[in-house]
Amino acid sequence: MNIETIKYGITGMTCDGCAKGIEKKFENKNGIVSKSVSYKNAAGEFQFDNSIITKSEITAIINSTGHYKVVDEITENNFENTNIENSKNDLSQGNYNYDLIIIGGGSAAFSAAIKTSELGRKAVIINDGLPIGGTCVNVGCVPSKILIRAAEQFHNMNNSNFESVKPNGGSLNFNNLIEQKTKIVKELRTKKYIDVVSDDENVTIIEGRGTIVDNNSVEVNGKMIRGENILIATGSATYIPNIQGLDSVNYYVNDTLYEINELPEHLIILGGRFIALENAQLFARLGSKVTVIQRSAKILPDEDADLSDYLTDLLKQEGIEVLTGTSINSIKEKEGKISVSLIETGVEKIVEGTHLFVATGRHGNTMNLVPENIGIETFGNGFIKTDESLQTSASGIYAAGDVLGKNMFVYTAAYEGALAAENAVDNLQKPRNYNPLPWVVFTDPQVAGVGLNEKQAEANGIDFETSRIDLKDIPRAIAAQDMRGFIKLLRNKNTDKLIGARILAPEGSELLMELSVAMKYGVTISELKNMLHPYLTLSEGIKLAAISFNKDVGKLSCCAV
Ligand SMILES: Cc1cc2nc3c(=O)[nH]c(=O)nc-3n(C[C@H](O)[C@H](O)[C@H](O)COP(=O)(O)OP(=O)(O)OC[C@H]3O[C@@H](n4cnc5c(N)ncnc54)[C@H](O)[C@@H]3O)c2cc1C
Repeated sequence: MNIETIKYGITGMTCDGCAKGIEKKFENKNGIVSKSVSYKNAAGEFQFDNSIITKSEITAIINSTGHYKVVDEITENNFENTNIENSKNDLSQGNYNYDLIIIGGGSAAFSAAIKTSELGRKAVIINDGLPIGGTCVNVGCVPSKILIRAAEQFHNMNNSNFESVKPNGGSLNFNNLIEQKTKIVKELRTKKYIDVVSDDENVTIIEGRGTIVDNNSVEVNGKMIRGENILIATGSATYIPNIQGLDSVNYYVNDTLYEINELPEHLIILGGRFIALENAQLFARLGSKVTVIQRSAKILPDEDADLSDYLTDLLKQEGIEVLTGTSINSIKEKEGKISVSLIETGVEKIVEGTHLFVATGRHGNTMNLVPENIGIETFGNGFIKTDESLQTSASGIYAAGDVLGKNMFVYTAAYEGALAAENAVDNLQKPRNYNPLPWVVFTDPQVAGVGLNEKQAEANGIDFETSRIDLKDIPRAIAAQDMRGFIKLLRNKNTDKLIGARILAPEGSELLMELSVAMKYGVTISELKNMLHPYLTLSEGIKLAAISFNKDVGKLSCCAV
């Protein structure tokens, strides 16, 4: 017998029952000597005979539940060289006074802690659930974008834009890809989060679940911490819809999907917004059959129909099945197959797949966080209401990031974290200002937007007009033989100012900041079209779109003016 002990960080547990459920999976399992899973510590310890069962088999058993995910092996060295203190060491020192107690350890929290420190004050970050860094680095932006790029490379090995260039195909080792992704995530987590505050004497990190007790006190790991102000930066998690049968099938959410240990043969995705679509294309490009099931009549339902329809067509061309206007009756799992019974525009259908990914929106992580008597108002779904300075309805308690339920991006979370911290510790009332707010959907071609779309401009009663140029009219796209997409600008007819833009283009996000700067500083469409744009760049498309407000671009020669 070769007995070894391994300790894993496990996410996704919401109660002691979850911990018991994981332990149950190991009952009578060959090679397992002992197991102890703790919800409170978000961890599990396993003693095992490594000649019978391996670490990766143990990980796979935990991950196979679909609800829980092994995030890290916990070793003595995990937090070496950082000032992360476990709460025992920290609190045993007695009376703690912080200028800002931050509950949550993601982007909003880190930026709040750094701002507090820059202002010469003391902050404590209390984090639990996801590892330090929160959603973006561990289970959101970073892993998804790594896998999207890898999938794109694999796709390009099998698809060429030029008849004369024949792709030879490539090979994919899916498990290695997941391992490589995990390695990059770990590196970024250390470099961009842990290292950033490791020598900062003003910032302390405590691992544990924070619960607000009163306007100045938070309980963590059974001890009380007191501070001048509190910031709720607890983020969001997948909103699980109330669908008959969903709670009794295995499904993935973003917390577990990027640890999946096999490429799904047929991935069914519930949802049709950015998380659903990015993952649909990435798994399809890696070789899965993918079906997207969307309740609204269109994918990206807040956008104009031309954009949603164009993207739908492109995804379908890549073999992705996109079902819209659906209503799901029930979901079942039998012999490893997931079957979704639904109605699509009046017609009953059964979709059968091997794996299910739920991306049906988000809810705020505020369960059991705030006692009712403190009186923090919420919007429902756990999202917290604040005033413009990000103070909640309870004095001295602020909120930032995804938990606000709007503009859920990592850069807005960081912006809000810093603003809330400054307002809290300096007792200011600086209002938030997102104007303009650029955003991206990382499909290929990417969807990028800033300002208003047509629906929103109409709803706001603005006298506007649009100009749209298709990529087939942009020399760069013609040269690259990749003419998927368009650039659309919206102009206020009275002021000639840009009020919004939508781009569907390969790497279209790289065009967005020119338009954002133009919007912020009130650059007019006439000024935009008179600026020199290098030939052949995709950004020339912006100039062409500006020109085509009053000229037919099809009739212009090269380097149009
Ligand atoms: C799949 C996916 C892809 C994404 N891609 C992008 C992208 O490309 N670009 C982009 O800008 N945004 C992207 N986002 C959005 C972005 O990740 C989030 O907006 C951002 O990470 C939110 O940061 P936050 O600090 O508000 O919350 P989080 O990062 O979620 O941090 C909250 C932390 O608080 C912890 N916590 C919760 N409750 C408690 C408690 N009571 N006590 C202690 N700790 C607690 C949580 O476990 C977590 O660690 C993506 C999101 C997802 C899901």
